Amino acid sequence: MSGECRTIQSMKGIRMSEFDYDLFVIGAGSGGVRAARIAASHGAKVAIAEEHRYGGTCVIRGCVPKKLFVYASHYSEEFEDAEGFGWSVGERSFSWEKLMAAKDKEITRLEGLYRANLERHNVETFDTRAVVEDANTVRLLSTGQTLTAKTILVAVGASPNVDTSIPGHEHAITSNEAFHLDKLPESVLVLGGGYIAVEFAGIFNGLGSETHLMYRGETILRGFDNELRVALQEEITKKGINVITEDVVTAIVKRDDGKLEVTSKKGLTLVVDQVMYAIGRDAHTKGLGLDKAGVEMRANGEIVVDAESRSTAPSIYAVGDVTGRAALTPVAIREGHAFADSTFGGKPWTVDHSLIATAVFSQPELGTVGLSEEQALEVSPNLDIYSTRFRPMKNTLAGRDERTMMKIIVNADTDKVLGVHIMGPDAGELAQILGITLQMGATKADFDRTVAVHPTAAEELVTMR
Ligand code: NDP
Repeated sequence: MSGECRTIQSMKGIRMSEFDYDLFVIGAGSGGVRAARIAASHGAKVAIAEEHRYGGTCVIRGCVPKKLFVYASHYSEEFEDAEGFGWSVGERSFSWEKLMAAKDKEITRLEGLYRANLERHNVETFDTRAVVEDANTVRLLSTGQTLTAKTILVAVGASPNVDTSIPGHEHAITSNEAFHLDKLPESVLVLGGGYIAVEFAGIFNGLGSETHLMYRGETILRGFDNELRVALQEEITKKGINVITEDVVTAIVKRDDGKLEVTSKKGLTLVVDQVMYAIGRDAHTKGLGLDKAGVEMRANGEIVVDAESRSTAPSIYAVGDVTGRAALTPVAIREGHAFADSTFGGKPWTVDHSLIATAVFSQPELGTVGLSEEQALEVSPNLDIYSTRFRPMKNTLAGRDERTMMKIIVNADTDKVLGVHIMGPDAGELAQILGITLQMGATKADFDRTVAVHPTAAEELVTMR
């Protein structure tokens, strides 16, 4: 079924649409929920279906529990540092069970808020997987019921990849399972060198697991500023993570004692309790029926959309990770919001994907906005680079040899700041503010005439010459 949503007059004189809904959203993650809520607030009749839990990857098995785990893992260093400031911290112990229970309670609370928010906006919710039947019809798998909508929004996100060509890959976990382990592994091998691998290696290491990180390239976090990548790799190595580079796993064998014996291309053998894949995520579109509706997808399942998030089927839109634009929660939220305002609110706008501030909750944390030095060189061969690496004040008494790094990349012809990259405590918080600064087109002269806040680490940003 396709075509315009014509309003027709029923026998009783009530205005009715030829569709059951103005909008049917598949997937109640960050992007889908925002779109549903905003569309409903514009007066649209909206339904949403979710096969797992409301809140999606970020809330249920991503950003939120991850950040809680990061907080938990920081305490081991906080206890050590406290001694340098005169505190005597008695015997320490950590309970994985307590952390899991507290985390689960918080996630359940947040899921409840998501549901309540949808209900408050009169969005009808279905707890089932929904698939596309045609350009205006979805089918609910729990009941087989078909429902029609003038517009369908696909916001099903992505799921973690596992290299199924590796013998024994079935013994490995992904970040999904890492949030539900019965106990903290005594030893763990994390595979990959992206956001998730680096963040989880930090979590396990901080909580006390013997942690190995294996990356196929030379330096972790490809795509970030090279100097920042090298600096982080050095710091996480200093913290005790065994970073293995230019190597990949070739087999995983489960031994009789339950441990996993891992062999690598370079001939390494490691025996660990858990192996965790963090080698990227693929769009969750398999079996969704999008092909039936004429929705074009890339080989990896990502939905091809235009700037308005419209797919090649005019009544089907997609937002968030499933589109492969920038797999970040705030981006999905903005895409969902822009879609809803544009389609149902008469206020069309599009998302600018060009200047996205982001953080990696590694230990130490990274915060970054704008171009890396390598990317900036492609824009202008004439750059001024300001870079500093120093021991932040707290680490002096703490006796911690952890450095903070800050780097500002400036177009030497225009004085415009093209990128700022930070490694250190609260780098993500700083990146948020720097995002505004760069959005406003700040120049290095703007940074220079800003009075420093003293004593902070951030003052380096306005005092570097
Ligand atoms: P990423 O794409 O960030 O990283 C994947 C990593 O796995 C890369 O290091 C990649 O290497 C490596 N890799 C890919 N395929 C293989 C393979 N077959 N064998 C060995 N290594 C492989 O994915 P993540 O899973 O870490 O995260 C997914 C996305 O989620 C991120 O891109 C990010 O957008 C989002 N995210 C954001 C967070 C945040 O904002 N803090 C936190 C977590 C996730 P190579 O570099 O060589 O390609």
